[in-house]
Amino acid sequence: MSSKKRLINSKKAKIDAKILREKAERIASGTTFFSVEDLSPDKIQELLQELHVHQIELEMQNDELHQSKDELNTVKERYFDLYELAPVGYFTLTAEGKILQANLTATILLSTPKSALINHLFNNFIAPEDQDIAYLHFKSLLSTYASQSFELQMIKGDGSKFWAQVDVSHSQNSIGQRTLRLIINDISERKNTQRDLAIAAIAFESQNGIVITNAKGTILRVNQAFTRITGYAAKEAIGQYISILKSGRQGEQFYARLWSTLSTQGRWQGEIWNRRKNGEVYAELLTITEVNKDGLGVTHYVGNFSDITEDKEAEAAIHRLAYHDSLTGLPNRRLLQDRITQSIYTSVRSLSYGAILFIDVDYFKTLNDTRGHNIGDLLLVDLAQRLRANVRQSDTVGRQGGDEFVILLDELSHEMSEAATMAQQLGEKLHEVMKKPFDLNGFEYHCKISIGISLVTKDATVEDLLKHADIALYKAKDEGRNRLRFFDPTMQEALEYRNTLESELNYALSQKQFYLYYQPQVDTQGQVQGAEALIRWHHPIRGVIPPHHFISLAEDTELILFIGSWVMESACSQLKKWEESPLTKTLQIAVNVSAREFRQINYVSQVKRIIQTSGINPSRLKLELTESIVLDNISDTIEKMNMLKQLGVTFSIDDFGTGFSSLSYLAKLPLDQLKIDKSFVDNIPGAKNDELIIKIIINMANGLEMDVIAEGVETQAQRDFLEANGCITYQGYLFSKPLPITEFEHYLKLNSN
Ligand code: C2E
Ligand code: CA
Ligand code: CA
Repeated sequence: MSSKKRLINSKKAKIDAKILREKAERIASGTTFFSVEDLSPDKIQELLQELHVHQIELEMQNDELHQSKDELNTVKERYFDLYELAPVGYFTLTAEGKILQANLTATILLSTPKSALINHLFNNFIAPEDQDIAYLHFKSLLSTYASQSFELQMIKGDGSKFWAQVDVSHSQNSIGQRTLRLIINDISERKNTQRDLAIAAIAFESQNGIVITNAKGTILRVNQAFTRITGYAAKEAIGQYISILKSGRQGEQFYARLWSTLSTQGRWQGEIWNRRKNGEVYAELLTITEVNKDGLGVTHYVGNFSDITEDKEAEAAIHRLAYHDSLTGLPNRRLLQDRITQSIYTSVRSLSYGAILFIDVDYFKTLNDTRGHNIGDLLLVDLAQRLRANVRQSDTVGRQGGDEFVILLDELSHEMSEAATMAQQLGEKLHEVMKKPFDLNGFEYHCKISIGISLVTKDATVEDLLKHADIALYKAKDEGRNRLRFFDPTMQEALEYRNTLESELNYALSQKQFYLYYQPQVDTQGQVQGAEALIRWHHPIRGVIPPHHFISLAEDTELILFIGSWVMESACSQLKKWEESPLTKTLQIAVNVSAREFRQINYVSQVKRIIQTSGINPSRLKLELTESIVLDNISDTIEKMNMLKQLGVTFSIDDFGTGFSSLSYLAKLPLDQLKIDKSFVDNIPGAKNDELIIKIIINMANGLEMDVIAEGVETQAQRDFLEANGCITYQGYLFSKPLPITEFEHYLKLNSN
């Protein structure tokens, strides 16, 4: 029986029972239109029968009623299950938004008891920022009757928020009121996943390239930055092996280490060289992470990388700047030190000797001062190239600073002497290649270098080696420059001596420790024609110090300028004194002029001033210039010499024959005398070559109408050879050593007639 039918039946039963009961009451109260006595037994029997039937009917109806009640209870329970315990929250609201009904789920969702919901505004449970959304949807529902569906954040009783999906429809309650029926779903989880996905998506499309591969290295996914960096579009990359990016710059070992780190630590980070689609190799900073969820083995690899090529280039540029000399592009002092350190290691490992050549440009300062720094720089650049071009690829040529260069020769030989010979050969080769003049912006320059060499041995330190090479270099300079010297321990002492001298030299002038010695210059008769003034340093402790111990030192420190003028002044005041006596009146004094002095811009005026203040006859003053001074800057030389010549000063070319003199320039100079260098005189008579050179010099002097003098004449044989060939003036120990003035004057008296 349907519940409806059952309901109708139970109504009918109720009505029948009512009639029956009235009938019975009437009979009992005797108000019936008949009395019992009036009834016939049949009638009674009939009534009883009727009653019995009714009773049975009643009982049946009662049963049915019970059954209906049970069924109603079941329905009620089902309703409770359906409504109250529904998986969604149900609300019924008034049109104004007041809560009329809420199911149990709604109270659970909002963590709020029903009592706190009913008759309260639904709005109270909406997050303030979303109240507008709800308002607009409710408004639209009320005006259009169209169901609304939207998401908003709701607030629980404890103040926490959750995301709700709201479905609301229009309705009317039993009393005809407009109501809103709401279904609320908690969608927080979905929202969170959505948000996480959105974040992940944004993260995936970051500036960094991202590539996801399976466990075998097949590319599954890439982001846009991957495409931007590698040049491979997603569809080109996906399905390929990750090795398409390999540049080949890193060897198998590198990859082996990478995989071993990855498998042991689950992650690898480092710099790697990869290749773009266009073939270009680039540097990336790469992090590879294993995906090994629940420890079930690697399923994927995620590579995250950024292009650091520019950083690398900047790094390289910084490295270049930090380790190379900006002018010549050669390794600088710092890099040299590194290389020397390496070289020492190599030397230990391979039991071989290397060498360090310390090179210094002779008279570089003079070039710089007279020609300007630009020309000086040009020389350094060209020189750097020339040095570089003459060593092996594996050798290091570096600039130590200023005009100092260092060449590092690695692993020359296992034999010390052989290594030394090889280093020496290179040094000689360098001297040879210097013979070709440098073209400095049209200015032809003959560059000479001094070289100090030390051998790289296993027990040396970088400092030692450089110091030793430097000491050897000083030795080379000391011995007259344009040469090469090896370091030996005695040099060390010499250097220390030199260093002390250098500081003591500063006081020598003010302490009046300098003296001029005079070495006679005589004619064939032994008659004194004049003297060469040679400086001596009377050191209070060390005694007399010869000029070759301190002149080059003074040249390096500019002190030569003061010393030079002191020499000139002393020589002139001596000349002045000699002018007073007939015996000495015609004597000349030859004064040595160093390059540094001569190159001073105001050199001529200095000489002029000294001549004037001393009041000497300038023709008695002879300036000795070396060939190298003259050649150094020929136009400046000619200009100055001519001006000095006009003052009346005379000139002699010192050490003649040792330089690169050529007739063409000799003819242009206002020269009075050539001075044949001692080195030629030493070997005559006998050495055919030197004899020939001497003869040529003498002829040349004659041809140019110049005097000629030979220095370093020690033997009669030398003197006779010279005289026989037309040289009639001599200077040397054969006649006298350089003498202090009083002794010189004594010598004069003895040798005059
Ligand atoms: P120099 O101009 O070639 O001087 C000649 C050198 O030869 C002198 O050495 C002299 O003492 C030495 N000498 C002369 N005759 C003989 C000889 O027969 N045998 C030997 N073995 N030597 C002889 P000193 O005085 O030691 O001077 C060395 C150098 O120092 C000079 O070479 C010159 O270049 C430089 N010097 C000397 N005095 C001065 C000076 O006042 N100013 C400058 N700028 N340089 C100077
Ligand atoms: Ca001289
Ligand atoms: Ca000389």
